[in-house]
Amino acid sequence: MKKKPTSIVRRTEWPQSLSQPVVTPLQPSVVYHSPDPDTLDQQYQDGTGFTYAREGHPNASVLAQKIDFLENVEGGIITGSGMSAIGAVFLGCLKSGDHVLGGDQLYGRSLRLMTQDLPKFGIETSLADPTDVDAMRAAVRPNTRMILVEVVSNPTIRVADMENIQKLAQEIGALLVVDNTFTTPIGYQPIKSGADVVLHSVTKLLAGHSDATLGYVFAKDPELMTAINDANVTWGLTPSPFDCWLAERGLQSFKLRYQQAQSNAEKLAEALSKEAGVKRVLYPTRADHPDHNRAVHLLGDNGGHMLSFELNGGREAANKLTRHASNIPFAPTLGDIGTTLSHPPSSSHRGLTAEGRASLGITEGFFRVSVGVEDVEILIDELTNAVQAATT
Ligand SMILES: *Cc1c(COP(=O)(O)O)cnc(C)c1O
Repeated sequence: MKKKPTSIVRRTEWPQSLSQPVVTPLQPSVVYHSPDPDTLDQQYQDGTGFTYAREGHPNASVLAQKIDFLENVEGGIITGSGMSAIGAVFLGCLKSGDHVLGGDQLYGRSLRLMTQDLPKFGIETSLADPTDVDAMRAAVRPNTRMILVEVVSNPTIRVADMENIQKLAQEIGALLVVDNTFTTPIGYQPIKSGADVVLHSVTKLLAGHSDATLGYVFAKDPELMTAINDANVTWGLTPSPFDCWLAERGLQSFKLRYQQAQSNAEKLAEALSKEAGVKRVLYPTRADHPDHNRAVHLLGDNGGHMLSFELNGGREAANKLTRHASNIPFAPTLGDIGTTLSHPPSSSHRGLTAEGRASLGITEGFFRVSVGVEDVEILIDELTNAVQAATT
């Protein structure tokens, strides 16, 4: 017998059904009730189940298991954003007096976290070129506790010397942390290659639809994983159920999207390289890429969905390009199901001086393309027409 409501304030019983939903339910509940203190006590003791959403909730667990599966690990966690994944790793693994060595072309906010925020906590940081292991080695200090790198850099698509950096980290007893956002678990699996921690901005290609902001972290050492999870929960970096639910749905098509986007990126890179108005194209597995051999060695055929190119004609041509390619959103993000264009000198890298940008090869005509899954003929047409209109 169904209980009749006695008050609209009390929750009404959930209708029962022998048949079950196919789709993962969305569970926004912040709190969970228990039958009695003994049961609750036991649950805390066992570390099972859910009590309070900041500590964990089913939608985060489901999503974490799926990304674990892709990374071939077990026990990763979801964070509220890619940046909170990095924040949780720093908070969980570092203490005052430690030194962190980072790649010099990390994601903009990661650079800021290292150069401006960690020093406030008495943590030393420095940056070096991850394509050059000698430069990395030269930046090591006796207190180097962590090395943070991205395999493929933003926006110049340079490929880090992962094998030698891994050896260096091992030799000096530092944790190797890899931000695998650009490469994704299809392109590269950090843990299998000897890293200690892998993290993602799930916001990008994994979730894939520009509608959820999330991160993911896994650490090989269970004690470290616990410390990172504690930092996530204590500092309140944990994710919303709705974002996890959306990201899980997006993730179901991740492999299909990846394959299509990568195939499109290869073809688009080739088409752009033939344009007179394009000075150079950067795509990791192309023969004309400065790190071609290393890219092929690390990534195989998986050059990924990101490419950059340099347009002749500076800022004026850049303005014309985005106006002509008006069907391709000009937006500072990546990993959407559709192609997006970004212009680092006016967005992610506007904080650098012109000389700073020049030293990275980021001129006013520099564009980064996050290639999506649309019909490649249309994409090539739109972008090559825009290049021609902008440079002639
Ligand atoms: C976007 C991005 C981040 C930050 O992720 P958010 O989800 O935006 O916080 C970190 N690293 C890389 C490589 C990224 O592309």
